[in-house]
Amino acid sequence: MKLEEIKALDKKYFMNTFGERTPVAFEKGEGMYLYTEEGEKYLDMFAGIAVNALGYAHPKFTAAVQAQAGKLLHTSSLYYIENQARLAEKICSISCADKVYFGNSGAEANEAAIKLAKIYFYKKGVEKYEVISLKSSFHGRTLATVAATGQEKYQKPYAPLIPGFKQVEINDFAALESAVTDKTCAILLEPVQGESGVHPVDEEYLKKVRALCDEKEIILIFDEIQTGIGRCGRMFCYETYGIEPDVFTLAKALGGGVPIGAVCAKDFVAQAFEPGDHGGTFGGNPLACAAGLAALSAIEEEKLIENAAKMGEYIEKALKESCVEKLGEIRRCGLMIGIDIPGRAKEVRQKLFEKHILVGAVGDVTLRVLPPLIISEKEADEFVNALKDIL
Ligand SMILES: *Cc1c(COP(=O)(O)O)cnc(C)c1O
Repeated sequence: MKLEEIKALDKKYFMNTFGERTPVAFEKGEGMYLYTEEGEKYLDMFAGIAVNALGYAHPKFTAAVQAQAGKLLHTSSLYYIENQARLAEKICSISCADKVYFGNSGAEANEAAIKLAKIYFYKKGVEKYEVISLKSSFHGRTLATVAATGQEKYQKPYAPLIPGFKQVEINDFAALESAVTDKTCAILLEPVQGESGVHPVDEEYLKKVRALCDEKEIILIFDEIQTGIGRCGRMFCYETYGIEPDVFTLAKALGGGVPIGAVCAKDFVAQAFEPGDHGGTFGGNPLACAAGLAALSAIEEEKLIENAAKMGEYIEKALKESCVEKLGEIRRCGLMIGIDIPGRAKEVRQKLFEKHILVGAVGDVTLRVLPPLIISEKEADEFVNALKDIL
């Protein structure tokens, strides 16, 4: 179907939540590149918003998903599911978590994490239900996660919001401390804020937050939906801070492109969920968990975490050598890269698109770059050289 026909259908039948999209539709992908039906080739430096860690048509991953699709897609969790048990085991074996629950998206994983923190205190008979998160955060689009997301544009139309949520300024420990009450059940934060333009929390701050949670008996939840699964040059971003959350959530790259979300928790919190307390029809089905298992083994076998750390440094160095005088601040954690180009970010994203390179932009300030973790120097150079030409 031609792009104009797709656009017409979309305009007529799809709810207008995404407005004018980037005017392109892709038919297939291979490695770091996407192709339109007409065979035009695009370098993907955004990975479907940090989802496609393995790039496109990864041979082993694709074969695993195809094989599972041919055998069994869904049974419901009324029955035991081998892939679900194995993926839960795998995540626990590589993280600080003891137990995992699967949903279908990031927002759903955060919902489950919030419910878990609440029910933990409910079962103890302690009246704690408030959740503190950070301003400029992003935790999803369901009603509870919108209440946790510290951005007015996402909250305003849905007032009155679910009560018990408040947000404080990032890296301001005094503000956080004074927001805590004897009703606070959880502090929820992204180790590196993604959607608002790659803003990391400070190490000192995070260590104090951990200590505060221990002292006041508050569940510390990290939203690692974007930072997790190798994106930050470690399997999980919390490893770079040398502290452990009580609960963390995953989604985006976990299924290599197949929808899956996970809430991962230490045993003392996880045991609060008992039969009937939480659930979902699709969560952790055989297909999604086969995809998760295949994605994680590809990431390990091909040393993509090491590659993310190395290529993140390579891109930052190349940017600094070639066009630093035209750029504002560069913020980076592994392959999660924010490049400030105030007043020009949208224009630069558009010009990169015209050169067939896909990136994101946050407002008109920050270029957001989230390439697949398989990126090599060749594609990194292609991106940096194009950016240099544009600037
Ligand atoms: C994308 C994202 C979410 C929401 O995930 P969905 O799958 O879109 O619901 C939540 N938190 C963070 C940090 C994200 O990047």
